Amino acid sequence: MEIRTTTVFHMAGYSYAIFCWGLFSLYCIGYQVKQWRIFWHRRQKLNKLDDKAFDPCFPWEHWLRPLDRVVSIPFVTEMIAVKHIVGMCLFVIVNVIFILFAPFKWTDGFTSFRFEAIGLYDRRCAFMGMVNWAFVFILASRNSILTSMSGFTFESIIPYHRWVARVGLLEFIPHFVWRMYKGYIVNYVVADTLFCDLEQTSGTICMFGFLLLFVTSFSFVRRRFFEFFYYAHLIGIVVAIIFACIHEPACFLYFIPAVILWVADRAWRSYQSWLVPMVLLKMDTAVTKTETQEGISRMLFDYAGMTGYQPGQYVFLALARKKANAWWLRWRMANWHPITVSEVFPGNKAPDAAEKRVPHHSDEAGRHSISLEGTTSLDTNSLRRRASAWADEESQTKHSRDQHKVASLHIKALGGFSRDLLRHADEGSEVYVKVDGPYGPRLAYQDYQVLACYAAGIGITPALTLIKDCVERRASGVSTVSTSYVQLVWVVRSTEETLAFHDQILYWRDRAAKAILPVTLDLQLYVTREPRGEKSVSGFDRTRYGQRPQMDECMNTIPVQHHVCVHTCGSDAFMSSVINEASRRGWHHHHETFEF
Ligand SMILES: Cc1cc2nc3c(=O)[nH]c(=O)nc-3n(C[C@H](O)[C@H](O)[C@H](O)COP(=O)(O)OP(=O)(O)OC[C@H]3O[C@@H](n4cnc5c(N)ncnc54)[C@H](O)[C@@H]3O)c2cc1C
Repeated sequence: MEIRTTTVFHMAGYSYAIFCWGLFSLYCIGYQVKQWRIFWHRRQKLNKLDDKAFDPCFPWEHWLRPLDRVVSIPFVTEMIAVKHIVGMCLFVIVNVIFILFAPFKWTDGFTSFRFEAIGLYDRRCAFMGMVNWAFVFILASRNSILTSMSGFTFESIIPYHRWVARVGLLEFIPHFVWRMYKGYIVNYVVADTLFCDLEQTSGTICMFGFLLLFVTSFSFVRRRFFEFFYYAHLIGIVVAIIFACIHEPACFLYFIPAVILWVADRAWRSYQSWLVPMVLLKMDTAVTKTETQEGISRMLFDYAGMTGYQPGQYVFLALARKKANAWWLRWRMANWHPITVSEVFPGNKAPDAAEKRVPHHSDEAGRHSISLEGTTSLDTNSLRRRASAWADEESQTKHSRDQHKVASLHIKALGGFSRDLLRHADEGSEVYVKVDGPYGPRLAYQDYQVLACYAAGIGITPALTLIKDCVERRASGVSTVSTSYVQLVWVVRSTEETLAFHDQILYWRDRAAKAILPVTLDLQLYVTREPRGEKSVSGFDRTRYGQRPQMDECMNTIPVQHHVCVHTCGSDAFMSSVINEASRRGWHHHHETFEF
């Protein structure tokens, strides 16, 4: 096997790769400059040198805001931003240009464009597809230096992972079809179409790997049979890579850097989830299943990996029931579910930790398993009280930097995994549990005067941590938090769903009332499937029964109509209405989708 580096297909491939990396580097530089601006502004504010309103966005981000509008494309996606459609069109055009013209060499005798033989173009297409598939790998990494440099987060780049993969696959098709035809016409034997020699056979198997990935990643399969999709993905990618490299050794050059990044990502994830200490403190039912809603389970855990946590982020959770003589149940630990952290509290490593830590056992392999003993000593109200007491201590900053964080998760019982979890919580079963993370956005809401959160159902969880963070920091007088007005519009089917978070909402009220820097809370609840009631649910300023919010009306009630940071999480239809209204007003927004 020999790697031919001087072929014109290879030149087209690597010139395209260099072009893409160049663009990406420019983006990273822009992102880092933006981060530096934000840092500089906060420093000035801290030193009381600058108290002017600050806009963290560059001017051109405002000019492009109309392109943030989202639309649905029938049979393709429920929600896509216009800027992404434009971006994908440009991406396809760039691909076509490289397929036709790369490596753009100008020769003296060149007078007009001449189409080459198909046998040349199909291989150019294949090489371009290969480069795109190398990007596909990188776009599926949870941790990588590239995500840190660019500020892209796992959930924000996953749609690109899908789109780039489809373009890459499309580029393989002409090569696949043309080579099948060429294989067949050698001896006119049908089997030769796919398996005439090693090159043809490996190419065919590789293509089956890619097709398996493609077919099982349709949203129909992904949404209904997530586990099948997940394992098919792993098998498909391993098969595709191995046989691609046998088929064309140059694939090594393109795939290996991406594979190295992917392996490093897996190694880091394994380290985080298996070696970083994690203790499950409590697992219980936050809301019991009733006729009107599915029920919500809650987990409280102390995890050393949470030190870098930012409000609005999520972790991956794996869980398996602990049962005597049923070690095989632990295969479920390979299945990770993303769940947003719903609240964080300072953990026990601080000097005056008050709570009794639940002892954990080690299993025969020395790993931590959990115990639910003594959980009555752990209630979130006392953890909150402890946190606010520490916040008043002078030494708080120093301690908070190196202490563990206790975090809670609220999980709605929707399908196999989450219903099992609710059942285990109800029955008090013993479980193995692992956490990997945190992942997700680092939202710079604090530089805006207004934080406006719009959530539907369990989509409230990211908003909870954002609002709590804002209220606590304003209450403690942190001058770099400029947000003085918080609006929350929460849509639920029944008031029972609010029970899980009721005490947290009352806690915000309490802290906001005694805040050093003023913060106004405007909390609105919409209950869609309950008979019209008169009573406002306590903690909320307004409760509306039997109706959905009109986004324009809600946003009109915000007293400051500029410098607004919008966060939304819920169904695609719900988020679309929020995003479109926010972009119409030129507001900065971020949305969280609870499905990949
Ligand atoms: C970033 C993010 C944050 C989330 N935060 C929360 C939260 O705070 N609380 C909460 O209740 N839910 C949250 N979810 C949703 C939660 O991950 C799914 O509801 C859960 O994985 C469903 O699994 P299931 O087997 O119970 O249901 P299923 O019936 O198997 O799936 C229900 C839906 O969840 C999706 N899903 C299933 N498994 C996964 C998986 N491993 N990864 C991604 N999606 C999956 C499926 O596509 C399907 O649409 C979040 C999802 C994401 C992507």
